[in-house]
Amino acid sequence: MTMERQPTILIVDDNQANLQVIGNIIKVLDTKIVFAKSGRQVFTYLEKNLPDLILLDVMMPEMDGYEVCHRLKSDPHTRDVPIIFLTALNDEEDEARGLSMGAVDFISKPFKPAIVQARIKTHLRLKHKTDLLERLALIDGLTDIQNRRRFDENLLSEWLRAIRESTPISLMMIDIDHFKNFNDIYGHTSGDDCLRNVAKTLKQSIRRPGDTVARYGGEEFAVVLPNTDKDSALMIAETIRQNVASLNIPHAQNGGNDHVTISLGVATIIPQQNSDASMLIEAADQCLYQAKHDGKNCVKG
Ligand code: GH3
Ligand code: MG
Ligand code: MG
Repeated sequence: MTMERQPTILIVDDNQANLQVIGNIIKVLDTKIVFAKSGRQVFTYLEKNLPDLILLDVMMPEMDGYEVCHRLKSDPHTRDVPIIFLTALNDEEDEARGLSMGAVDFISKPFKPAIVQARIKTHLRLKHKTDLLERLALIDGLTDIQNRRRFDENLLSEWLRAIRESTPISLMMIDIDHFKNFNDIYGHTSGDDCLRNVAKTLKQSIRRPGDTVARYGGEEFAVVLPNTDKDSALMIAETIRQNVASLNIPHAQNGGNDHVTISLGVATIIPQQNSDASMLIEAADQCLYQAKHDGKNCVKG
């Protein structure tokens, strides 16, 4: 279970006095408040942080609020952060423009503290629910790693990137050996614990920021390694095989082994224009089949 965390609000205004007024109005809410005095400061902050809400002044020198909003909405990384325009303007056209650019609300001066607080609370609540929904849609509930839907999305975007950049992409398909026996002997609850432990180990075994691990199906996992050649992928796969074996989870009917083991199939492709990512899955699946055929608890590439 993840802990409820305190939401973060980023307030953007070129005027220090305004920042203070708004900061004072919302300090009664249980939130963390961060200030920025220009569009530039906003982008610097967003490189490493994602607030839950941005309160954005329209009129600022250098880059105005509309431009900041436009940039945030064009970037997939920041697109989903809700923006409320806070402004001295009180003009239908300006308000319509802000909302049509994707802002969730528009609050004009003079600020009525109770109204500002209520609206902000509403948008924070909405954001919290949206995050929760996204999490439910993309994270596997049992193992807390990416689910199949997220895997499909991620593989496609990495595949397209590999085409653009003419780089190799590697995919590992991983399957627990004799897992039906494991469930039969130790029960489904222990089976679930085993899946959680294996997932955790897989996650800890990948190092680069772009590497991802997903639950592909029941007791099958998939690891995507962007910009990774065959030899490196095979080495990582062998490390993963050993890491799972080292968990030393007892398994009384696992061929010749007395602990839980996995089989891994590894495929690497430098994709051609217009080729389909499914060929990478098929290739990795073929290798996994070979690993099972050759006695399990091994890596095939
Ligand atoms: P192999 O070595 O050839 O992979 O054999 P296997 O028994 O692992 O493969 P099989 O496909 O026959 O069985 C997979 C088992 O995985 C059957 C199913 O009960 C179990 N399984 C799938 N999803 C879950 C799950 O969410 N929890 C638990 N506990 N077991 C699961
Ligand atoms: Mg299977
Ligand atoms: Mg299996």
